[in-house]
Amino acid sequence: MRILAIYAHPADVACEASGTLALHAERGDTVYVLVVTNGEAHHNVITENISSAKMAEVQQVCALLGFASRSFLFLPDRQLEPHKMMSLHIKAEIERHAPDIIVTHIPVSNAKYLGEHEVVGEAVRRAVVLSKHKPDQIFYFPMDNSLDTTDMLCHDLVCDIWIDTTPVIKKKLEAINLIKSQGYDGKCAEKIIEARDGRWGMLAGCSYAEPFLRARAQTYEHLPREKPPVTGPNGLQVEYKLLGDV
Ligand SMILES: [Zn+2]
Repeated sequence: MRILAIYAHPADVACEASGTLALHAERGDTVYVLVVTNGEAHHNVITENISSAKMAEVQQVCALLGFASRSFLFLPDRQLEPHKMMSLHIKAEIERHAPDIIVTHIPVSNAKYLGEHEVVGEAVRRAVVLSKHKPDQIFYFPMDNSLDTTDMLCHDLVCDIWIDTTPVIKKKLEAINLIKSQGYDGKCAEKIIEARDGRWGMLAGCSYAEPFLRARAQTYEHLPREKPPVTGPNGLQVEYKLLGDV
């Protein structure tokens, strides 16, 4: 299976759906990564080399997690709007890699304006419409503003796919540790993993998890019967692992 992950920023390659993608790489799937911006606006002082430093970090993350290739569009950060040019660039990458699955940011937000993550998600959605190659599915990954729920997200959306990333959580920690340009290494990486991926795990009924929302409905032969995630007081039945236990 071929997967193309499309992210707004270089750091997203380590911090967002990297656990799920590392699991796929481990089982022999090919993972390509496309980064849309140079990520420079996340620094108060923009230094000349920051974008090349970030590119180097992404290369290290991809090598660590077993991703096949990465490419960059190098659009300026914080100046993004969903425009056709961006979608055409992304369309070209989709046609080049012909992925079975695309992973990208959820294209909507409760905020009054769209941030870069949502803009990129929307550009991907439009790129797939324009593309000659159609992936089987787009899995959208939510950002922090939509993490603390298993129910209704913004615009009445529900993250309906949760991936148990406990087996690769140390790898994800190591990947976030490589993002030194944003100070994500050290204690910050541990905090991100425990507070966010750990919280998602609690909602999903495992130690660590990543949530996704499908772009299109899936067709089944019958109603799927699956165990709901164990949450609330019953969550005590789960034997949670912390980073030191994995
Ligand atoms: Zn980002």
